[in-house]
Amino acid sequence: MKSRRTFLKNGVAITAGLSLAGTSCVGESEIQRERSTKPKAISTWNHGLSANEEAWKTLVDGGSALDAVETGVMVVEADPKSTSVGLGGLPDRDGNVTLDACIMDHLGNAGSVSFLQHIKHPISVARKVMEETPHVMLVGDGALKFALSKGFKKEQLLTEDSRDQWKKWKEESKYRPIINSENHDTIGMICQDSKGNLSGSCTTSGAAYKMYGRVGDSPVIGAGLFVDNDHGAAVATGMGELMLKTLGSFLVVELIRQGATAQEACEAAIQRIVDKLDYKSFQVGYLAMDKAGNTGAFAIHPGFNYAEMADGNNILIDSRSYSN
Ligand code: ASP
Repeated sequence: MKSRRTFLKNGVAITAGLSLAGTSCVGESEIQRERSTKPKAISTWNHGLSANEEAWKTLVDGGSALDAVETGVMVVEADPKSTSVGLGGLPDRDGNVTLDACIMDHLGNAGSVSFLQHIKHPISVARKVMEETPHVMLVGDGALKFALSKGFKKEQLLTEDSRDQWKKWKEESKYRPIINSENHDTIGMICQDSKGNLSGSCTTSGAAYKMYGRVGDSPVIGAGLFVDNDHGAAVATGMGELMLKTLGSFLVVELIRQGATAQEACEAAIQRIVDKLDYKSFQVGYLAMDKAGNTGAFAIHPGFNYAEMADGNNILIDSRSYSN
């Protein structure tokens, strides 16, 4: 038997789970924040600016955060100049463009596709997995078959430019992950709508020149994205293997639930990587928002940035980082 009590710490109410003996139970403490109903959009990297602009059209119209995070990242998926997402995404080392994406709504529903080929908008397929199947995740041929059955069209996603870059890479064929956006930069997006609901999306072609079949964090709920509408949401970008090993986005949201600010939570999740993994040659960036609309971001190395849109103003912000 447990009882719960609420008390004030730094002006915010905290509900703590207490055992009968009066000792607090691990994982039971959670902080209560007031929900914001002011629309806000945040998304990773420079291309977040155009994603936010698109999402904003939905948000100012009273539309849902879920629609906003889908339509926002679709702009980047369709942009052939974005070499890390959708059309024009850099291929694996054999020349295949393979895509990963996931989406979560305010009810805790989740949908995901991974190792999906030939479909320009994996985020919309992920949403259909969430809304029209009993499952969370479809991969490879199964995901493609499902997409085609829902009316998505098969397309060539390797552009002339991305093919040229791949051919140049093949001259040396050295797999050398680069720290920042030069060869990977997933778009991860979180929106809050005028009802105060949070949703998130994440879509990528993954690490350039990866092994055939490699899947990163981006389609994995809890690694690349996590949303808990009662507390907050987080997205990740960077070397997916590090977020997979620490279930980083879940960790950020869990820390927010337990009372950390969005900023403190992102910093603690990066610290977890630094403490446990070989992090020096890899970049990871976390971006988070709590339900009060407070945002936070942190990365291992300098270079990570994100776009934040509120009150119609869309700005690019440099994230702070563990190393200088
Ligand atoms: N996280 C993605 C992956 O590992 C890539 C990126 O965000 O840069 O597939």
